[in-house]
Amino acid sequence: MKAALFSPTLALCSALLLSACTSTPQQSAVSADLARLSDSALKSELAYDVVKSLTVEVGPRIAGSEGDKRAVAWAEEKFKALGFDKVYKEPVRVRNWSRGIADAKVIAPYQQKLFITALGGSVATPEGGLITQVVMFDSLASLKQADAAQTHDKIVFINQRMQRDRAGKGYGPVVIGRSQGAIEAAKLGAKAVLIRSVGTDNSRFAHTGVMQYSDDVEKIPAGALSNADADNLQAMLDAGKDVTLAVEMRAKEHGWQTSYNVIGEFTGSESPEEIVLIGAHLDSWDEGTGALDDGAGVGIVTGAAKIIKNVMGQPKRTIRVVLYASEEFGLTGAQEYTRKHKAELSNIIVAAESDFGAGEIYQIDTLFAPSAVQQANPLFEALENIGVTQGHNQAGGGPDVSMLPKYGVPVVSLLQDGTYYFDYHHTANDTLDKVDPKALAQNQAAYALLAYFMANSEIDTRPAPAKTTNSH
Ligand SMILES: [Zn+2]
Repeated sequence: MKAALFSPTLALCSALLLSACTSTPQQSAVSADLARLSDSALKSELAYDVVKSLTVEVGPRIAGSEGDKRAVAWAEEKFKALGFDKVYKEPVRVRNWSRGIADAKVIAPYQQKLFITALGGSVATPEGGLITQVVMFDSLASLKQADAAQTHDKIVFINQRMQRDRAGKGYGPVVIGRSQGAIEAAKLGAKAVLIRSVGTDNSRFAHTGVMQYSDDVEKIPAGALSNADADNLQAMLDAGKDVTLAVEMRAKEHGWQTSYNVIGEFTGSESPEEIVLIGAHLDSWDEGTGALDDGAGVGIVTGAAKIIKNVMGQPKRTIRVVLYASEEFGLTGAQEYTRKHKAELSNIIVAAESDFGAGEIYQIDTLFAPSAVQQANPLFEALENIGVTQGHNQAGGGPDVSMLPKYGVPVVSLLQDGTYYFDYHHTANDTLDKVDPKALAQNQAAYALLAYFMANSEIDTRPAPAKTTNSH
């Protein structure tokens, strides 16, 4: 690129007396461009129109399903209709699993239906279901301390409630029970595991999500109780009663299918080989319509790229929108993208994924070469105007780009307000009405600012190449 759009030295002014500094005409022009782009993106309903189109015309799209195939076709059509320069898809082998029915009831000492759902990847119960006593633990950690005599031939109930938090910090400590519960319960001879839903609501919607097995122990069925039903079961157990459940689940594996990462790009006019990557995942769970997870992200990154083209014209570096396959079943599409593109990962100027619902963005974290952070000051200032403050320089970038930093790829996390995200996450209640168009437009504006600035300035956030090749 020939012309610098801004001067990094002037960023020092913020550390000195502001009155001693005056912005150059170039700097003012950058700020004005960013403000114009931001205003347009805040006013545009494009992100919302895209998520609406995806949820209404495709709906549920679990990896490898008919819905997933329709979503891939939809994404290609959408990119083409929006005038992306290049639209293509790259095959990804994905696991295809179906939920089937999941029924549970208390049959003693009382008789009550419980609302459950299968965890993603669970096996079915034996034909005719399971009838056995349930034993409760307050966390995976306390299950691990248990004696097999407590759990043998029983259903293990992991009853740990997720705490509400803007940044979703309540998720990590609890989701371990979802992913590892079946392994630990099987080690102790249990017949099945039920967890309290990993969610912050008090509804009767159960929250699914992927779970794991180990080849070393028996694969036992795994489900989640809605929070309201977990409360009910807990009350019975707290009263000291022996509680017997009947559980039937008909989940099924259908082998491996081909899905696709779908990619749309606006090709850089000056440095087409340099890539600004913004992404989201195209797959969803099967019970809702995947509006928050991750239709919102699809709308945000697609809308942001298109608005840059509309308002600012062709970017200097390539802006690449990647809609990843099969995020929910273990980041399969992202792994394949990383493998296939290994040779060009060093050309990625920045990567960021939107995958945390539709709440407003309040903070930008970066993972840039430390000396480059200051070069992004015009971006930080523009983001500040839409309520986004500068955070730290240890960002993760979002699930599908989380494997890139180890290859030296700089990433950005635009942190969204997730206070209510986990009320709906992975439930049948994840539908379009949960998406606030105004908050979505603010996300669209933040991604547009990020992608435009990274594509049209001379900023280079990549770490210097390693000097030694043989360090042990
Ligand atoms: Zn997601």
